[in-house]
Parts: sequence; C-alpha cells; structure tokens
Amino acid sequence: MVSPELYRLEYDREHILHPYAPSNPPSNMTFVKSAKGVYLELENGQKIIDAMSSWWSVIHGYNVESLNTAAVEQLTKMSHVMFGGITHEPAIKLAQKLIEITDKHLERVFFSDSGSVAVEVALKMAFQYWNSQGNSQKNKILAFSKGYHGDTFGAMSVCDPITGMHSAFEGILHKNIFADSPGCPYGAKWDEKYISDFASKLEQNHKEIAAVIIEPIVQGAGGMNIYSPSFLKSVRALCNKYDVLLILDEIATGFGRTGKLFAYEYANISPDILCVGKALTGGYMSLAATLTSKKVMQGVEANGNVLMHGPTFMANPLACAVANASLELLLNSPWKEKIQNIQTQLNEELTKCEALTIVKAVRTLGAIGVVELHEEVDLDFMTPAFIKEGVWVRPFLNLVYIMPPFVITKEELTHLTSAIFTVVKAYECYKANEKKV
Ligand SMILES: *Cc1c(COP(=O)(O)O)cnc(C)c1O
Repeated sequence: MVSPELYRLEYDREHILHPYAPSNPPSNMTFVKSAKGVYLELENGQKIIDAMSSWWSVIHGYNVESLNTAAVEQLTKMSHVMFGGITHEPAIKLAQKLIEITDKHLERVFFSDSGSVAVEVALKMAFQYWNSQGNSQKNKILAFSKGYHGDTFGAMSVCDPITGMHSAFEGILHKNIFADSPGCPYGAKWDEKYISDFASKLEQNHKEIAAVIIEPIVQGAGGMNIYSPSFLKSVRALCNKYDVLLILDEIATGFGRTGKLFAYEYANISPDILCVGKALTGGYMSLAATLTSKKVMQGVEANGNVLMHGPTFMANPLACAVANASLELLLNSPWKEKIQNIQTQLNEELTKCEALTIVKAVRTLGAIGVVELHEEVDLDFMTPAFIKEGVWVRPFLNLVYIMPPFVITKEELTHLTSAIFTVVKAYECYKANEKKV
C-alpha cells in the first residue's frame, strides 16, 4: 500500500496537467496544504517563503483577514449573477475605483476573468475601433520581442515570436509585426538609437497597424527586461504621430509592484487601452479588467456596432468584492514606502550575486529582483535546493527572479536573498562539476 500522500501526488502526476509541463512528468509536484502571510505550508509542515507571490498576484500575502471577510460577506449576499442586463454593487464600486486611480482618459471598464482574456478584449477593442469606422486595413498589432501577454490565441500572437510558443502554432496564429525589445535599460542614458527599430517598423507598416501593445517599464514573463521610461515616452509619441492606438499591459506591473501604482506613471503618458489583472484581487481569485477611453469606445461603436465580448463570469461579484477590499487595503497602506524599502534591500543584497561567475546580471525595480544567469537553470536541481533553504522560487530559462508579497519583513527578505545566493552558488559548482565529468 502506498501512503495516502504519495497516492495523491502520484494521482496528480498521472492525471492533472500543470502549466507548460509534460503530462506524467518525471518528478512530483510540491504539495501545499495551506498558506498564511508570506509562507506556504508544505505536506510535511515545513513553511517556505513564497518569493513569487503566486505569479505576481498575492501582494498582501495569504489568508488576509479583511479579504477573507469581504469574500464571506459577499458569499452570503450572492456569489455570482449574470452580467447581461444585470448589474451590482461590487462591480460599480470597483469600476469607480479603477477609473479613479488610473489615467484620467480611462473611463470605460470591461471586466473579464483572466489576464489573457483582458488582452483579447483589448485587441478586439483596437480592431473594432478601426473596423467600425470603415478602416479594415488595420488588421495587425505591433508588439515587441520578449513581450508576454497571455496564452489565448490573440494574446499568444503578440507574445515574443521565439520564446512565445509561436513555433507550436505555426500557420495558425495571426501574423503580427514585432519590434526589437526595449534596449535601453532602466536608469541608462537615453539615446534615439534605442527606438529606431520600433520607429521604422511603425513608419513602414502603420497603415495596417491597429495598435501597439507593450508591458510598461518591465517586460515580465518574456525575459524580465527592465527598461527606460524614455523608451515608453517615445512609443507614445510615435503612436500619436502615426495615429495608432497604444495598449498597455499592466497585468504584471499594476498595483504598486514597480514602485508606482501603475508602471506607465514613470513615463507620464496616457494609454488608449489598459489591461490589469493578477494582483487586482490580491491573488484571491481570477479577475481582470480592460479600461479604455470614451474616444475609443465611440470609435468601436461607430455605425451601430458594439464590443463583441461577454464572458459567463463577467464581473463576478465575489471577485469584485475581494478586489475592492484588496484595493482598499493597498491604498490605505504605506505601500510606496514599503516597496521603496524592498527595492533598496533587494539592490543591496542581490548585487552580491554578481560576484558569481555563472551570474550575468542583477537588476531590480520596486519589489522585483532578477538574477540573470549565463545559462538556463535546471529546475530539478533548483526547486529542491530552494525548498531546502526555505523559499519558493520558480526560475525560468536563465532567470532566477522574485517578486515577493509587499508585506514581507526585512528579515524574511534577507532570508530570501541569502537563499538565492546560496542556491545559485551551489548551481555554479554543480554545473562546473558536470562539465568536468
Ligand atoms: C500573466 C500575464 C498575462 C496573462 O494573464 P493570465 O491571468 O495568466 O491569463 C498577460 N500579460 C502579462 C503582462 C502577464 O504577466
């Protein structure tokens, strides 16, 4: 008889698919029993610090009293009701809040159930904007290398064409246009040469480009590239020049992560369309939103058209109620100071990794830390090594990166950065030995 724990893990391995993973993988998943604060509790009772905030979302940590209360209170009223022809308090309150805290031109909100869908909706808005006004030539999006915008078909078609799964769907994906990824690092001196590839692609193709889509200041899952606000400013200016809409994807960067409430604030620009998700509910449940201006909606609705989208769980009241509580908690906290402190500490402590020969570069912004290696990581080595050090870090490609919950303490963060140094150093030895054999 196998033990019940082992049975469950084996069942999972044989029957349940996990993100970007083979079915029936060689090693078992890490079993999490519960979570509180910044800690995940594993099957054996070990508590480890979640350095990933469950992929950017759990900004307040786990099991937060005010969010729990908001969920329970909403449950006793209604967990869900359809949004076709019906509206409710949690959605109205959340729309008001989002409109208040984002750029003043953004005054129309579309709620959806995940970031990828928020991007689909943004793309539909852009295409319908031109189509409804009789311009059906504009049927492409200008996107960037190293971009990541989600896994549904439209979203996938604007992800990095090399690392972004295009090869698996060759001939099926909508063909878009790609500019070089933003090359001017954050803090570096601006030079016009950095924008030349984007500028020439836009100049050559603007007649068929409906919109540009970009992750402001931090390109996340496509390469953890942190770039200069001057780049984003130039993108906005060129979109204006050629009359192309600008979609900002703040799904990863929104709600304080970079040190500003929204990363586009670094460049002092206005998007035509804005996508938010991930941290919107403090990581409690799946909810996203696409915001746009009156002008864009008027274009979409020209000649009697309407935006063609409507998910079953649109503006789910339970998710909206928790999002309202999460925003209240965030905005009533000294989040700016907290994130500034995390940034300072990450800077001081992660730069130690630069002494390791396997490390190519270290970069930080807000509550984001990136240790880029010269070679790809081996998760079968790294995952158990990190757990042994008491942390949950999930590197991808050659990037060991973290974005901890904002509530992490100074001591917990030091524990985390020390664990990264220890594990990367051990990995360096392991790879060196591997080469000797
Ligand atoms: C995660 C992410 C998405 C996709 O969101 P999902 O909720 O996973 O569908 C889109 N854009 C960016 C920038 C993201 O980080």
